Amino acid sequence: METVPKAPVVIAEKALHTLVCELQSAGYRVIGPTLRDQAIIYDEIDSVADLPQGWTDEQQPGSYRVAKRPDMALFGYTVGPHSWKKFLHPPRLRLWQASRTGNEVSFSHDETPSQKYAFLGVRSCELHAIAIQDQVFLQAGHEDVGYRQRRDDSFIIALNCSEAGGTCFCASMKTGPQATNSFDLALTELLSEDRHEFLVEIGSQAGADLMHGIASREASAGDLETAEKLLAQTAANMGRHLDTQGLKERLQENPEHRRWDEVAARCLSCSNCTLVCPTCFCTSVEDTADLAGDTAERWRRWDSCFNGEFSYIHGGSVRSSTKSRYRQWLTHKLAHWVDQFGSSGCVGCGRCISWCPTGIDITEEAAAIGSAASPPEDAS
Ligand code: SF4
Ligand code: SF4
Repeated sequence: METVPKAPVVIAEKALHTLVCELQSAGYRVIGPTLRDQAIIYDEIDSVADLPQGWTDEQQPGSYRVAKRPDMALFGYTVGPHSWKKFLHPPRLRLWQASRTGNEVSFSHDETPSQKYAFLGVRSCELHAIAIQDQVFLQAGHEDVGYRQRRDDSFIIALNCSEAGGTCFCASMKTGPQATNSFDLALTELLSEDRHEFLVEIGSQAGADLMHGIASREASAGDLETAEKLLAQTAANMGRHLDTQGLKERLQENPEHRRWDEVAARCLSCSNCTLVCPTCFCTSVEDTADLAGDTAERWRRWDSCFNGEFSYIHGGSVRSSTKSRYRQWLTHKLAHWVDQFGSSGCVGCGRCISWCPTGIDITEEAAAIGSAASPPEDAS
């Protein structure tokens, strides 16, 4: 995404509605946070009225609750069970279909028309997660054509977090809370008793073009200072912390640490953590056929390293125990990912902590296994 140096502006709350309408007129399907089944999820929104105004979330290990806020903030919560990978890397995708007519068999690739998405409210940790998935799906020579199309067609409205959640640790991972690049527009919600406005930073030509149709005023030094203070406050109030110094080496040096057994005794191998994680990308393929044998299809669907069949190779699973699966997941995320892709596979969003049914906390496990002060290996 090109850099467009343009001074930040301020828009009123009602101008956000105009912005959504402009995106819809330009053919975008606008996806944003909305309240459904007692959770703030990402889905298509028709207008700003669909945003969870006046709601927040309270998150702790194994616990996620929505609650009313004392104010009418539009973005006064952190991240829920969904991430943008649901749209860019869909949970189920038909890869091809084969049909037989007489003795003739014809193949067709999935020709679902490309959908232009506008993502509203993309947090900084989520921008980093998208960048990580870009590395996976847009590797030279191995590009996923459908992913490329969805990425190229997406318009991103980032959101600077004005409060941190109970399981957030993006500040430790250096992935937030401020969105610094890879967006078309970035919003900071400026809310007090006598104002409800948004500071808007412009990150691309597409963003600048969209802002032409929106009523705005130049941001004052006071607006910028307020936004900076909000971000500093958010960074200081992270619910979790992870010390990444030397973590990769210590995790890789401790494959037999007794903590792996302890965490395995609590882990249900349910795969929740991988499904909610915005960077996990593993898939399986399934072939289906109709009873008459006239059509067959190949589907790609999300899979998880916590599933026994995931590592099945001619006659058995390579990782048959929960201990080996948890160790694979955590060491891949925080250590081997660095060897593979040059960065951590964790952006500190905290989803795997909140949505783990037994409240297993990646920051706690990594600290126990990988910190300088970790207990010695159990020799027994
Ligand atoms: S760590 Fe938690 S969410 Fe992940 S597989 Fe184990 S029990 Fe499920
Ligand atoms: S490992 Fe957990 S905290 Fe890290 S990016 Fe994935 S879901 Fe978020």
